[in-house]
Amino acid sequence: MPNYKAPVTDMQFLLHDWLKTQDHYQRLGLSDYDADLVNEILSQGSKFAEEVLSPLNREGDEQSCKLEDGKVTTPNGFASAYHEYIANGWNAMLGTADYDGQDLPNSIAVPIQEMLNSANVSWRLISMLTESAVLAVTKHGDQALKDTYLAKLISGEWTGTMCLTEPQAGTDLSLLSTKAEPLDDGSYAITGSKIFISGGDQDWTDNILHLVLARLPDAPAGVKGISLFLVPKIMVEENGQLGAPNTLSVGSLEKKMGIKGCPTCVMNFDSAKGWLVGGPHQGLACMFTMMNDARFQVGLQGLSISEAAFQGALEYARDRLQSRAPQGVQEPSSKADPIIHQPDVRRMLLTQKALTEGSRALSLIYAQQMDIERFGDEASKAKAENIIAFLTPIVKGFMTDMGTEVSNLGVQVYGGHGYIREWGMEQLIRDARITQLYEGTNGIQALDLISRKLARDKTGTMLTDTYELFAEKVSQIGHADAKAQAEAILQEWHQTALQVKTVSPVDLAGAAYDFMHYSAYSLLGVIWLSMSDTATQSENTVLKQGKANTCAFFLKRLLPRKDAYKTNLLNSAEDLMAVEGSEFDYI
Ligand SMILES: Cc1cc2nc3c(=O)[nH]c(=O)nc-3n(C[C@H](O)[C@H](O)[C@H](O)COP(=O)(O)OP(=O)(O)OC[C@H]3O[C@@H](n4cnc5c(N)ncnc54)[C@H](O)[C@@H]3O)c2cc1C
Repeated sequence: MPNYKAPVTDMQFLLHDWLKTQDHYQRLGLSDYDADLVNEILSQGSKFAEEVLSPLNREGDEQSCKLEDGKVTTPNGFASAYHEYIANGWNAMLGTADYDGQDLPNSIAVPIQEMLNSANVSWRLISMLTESAVLAVTKHGDQALKDTYLAKLISGEWTGTMCLTEPQAGTDLSLLSTKAEPLDDGSYAITGSKIFISGGDQDWTDNILHLVLARLPDAPAGVKGISLFLVPKIMVEENGQLGAPNTLSVGSLEKKMGIKGCPTCVMNFDSAKGWLVGGPHQGLACMFTMMNDARFQVGLQGLSISEAAFQGALEYARDRLQSRAPQGVQEPSSKADPIIHQPDVRRMLLTQKALTEGSRALSLIYAQQMDIERFGDEASKAKAENIIAFLTPIVKGFMTDMGTEVSNLGVQVYGGHGYIREWGMEQLIRDARITQLYEGTNGIQALDLISRKLARDKTGTMLTDTYELFAEKVSQIGHADAKAQAEAILQEWHQTALQVKTVSPVDLAGAAYDFMHYSAYSLLGVIWLSMSDTATQSENTVLKQGKANTCAFFLKRLLPRKDAYKTNLLNSAEDLMAVEGSEFDYI
């Protein structure tokens, strides 16, 4: 497995120089977070990721999880790493101070979360879902629920899960059939089976809080009849002590392609006691609080795996001696030159680097909007909410597709050795692949973007607010050529978005995936021009030159991908729907 080194220099450049977070914190009344404090948090986070989590990653993949006598055990070292994580307060980074959280800005937490995922995405998944559960309970739980559970979830003493999926109800949650019967004491008896539940059981904590979607007896059909319930693994007594086990169990563990260190469970609820979170039949809206955060976090997993794959490929390309470089002998003392001197290997490494650093910059733009949503005034909060809504499917869909492309390139740079387990590169592809599927497949992200966030947003403010945010970035570019180029990319994207939103529903659905990628490449074009413009002021000459050259590569070789996506998205869906029945297979 390649040794992971957190990309702290790039993170510091993006936070301090490019996004000017010190000014941003000042505007939000968060001026305690000066640059030294931010750097110290990044440094401590990188130590934990590099020294504690990364060494467990390969072993976790080899060992995977086990289910014995109804109890799950995770790979060696995972539980003690988690105990160290919560003891050092990392789990509480984003929790509210009302329940002993640290209320840290997201723009500081997100780089740490990236590091955790790069080091060991399987391990990270459970704490990620716990953070999302904290958000749902904080926003929708009543006072009693918060007082009973929130402090434990925020500290990480207990973990959270998200129980949506059933065998017949994946993308289409209107089909879910788990039932909730009201009981005399105000609680509910939950009965049904959920599949694919990440962290459904583990050997890290003595309680787990399941957030379960189920139907009340009087529920209307479809998604409007779904409610959300908090169902503890172990009942909590009035004095806060743990009581009897609840009537729920792990049916089995899934055998998976990747993220093997994370237990993926079939969960059976057999009249298990639960409490309503939010109003009756409001479950999907409440769960969306959790899902939207989780979608961003899954996008971050794509970025994180890209970074790990790039680091592995770069190290290998510098070491591996094969052939002579076409531009002439590079290492006369060796029989061959390092493959990094081959233009085709350069193409792969630069594709990895440009996509990874561009995605990181996008994730931090998003994180800054999360800060504004939490700490800003009413007007700026509303705008931030719109931008977050618009960018969520792009971050999730694009950055996870990139995670797979970049980890695939990682294997390619290693040649046949990339296919062999001991090098760790094939694990990255297997771990990345799930990110395109869970939290809503990327096809569904694309539909969410083009339909809910674009065509059905009658006021058009989600698009407008996003456009204005990027227009502001363009206006700050100092160099006239770069500014004009960024302006042209942004205008073309905005006009195309306005054009596509008026097409028929079938054409819109047919255009969805292409529009998501077209949007992502366009926005990354603006980001790269803006980043490299800022880097011209940097005292770090390596970073300055690296950003300039990578920007040039992105503009020349990756940005043109957007034109193919644009052509496709403006086509009607006629060709997609023309092939009928046996025309698919001639059998
Ligand atoms: C390892 C793992 C961990 C998971 N963790 C969790 C978890 O913790 N909690 C949880 O609740 N779930 C979890 N899931 C479930 C996951 O979120 C679902 O698998 C996912 O949402 C897709 O549902 P599905 O598998 O039923 O696919 P389906 O919904 O059957 O989709 C199959 C294909 O059809 C496409 N499709 C379906 N409907 C449409 C449509 N309307 N328009 C266009 N295309 C469509 C999809 O994009 C996909 O390509 C996990 C899954 C895995 C594999």
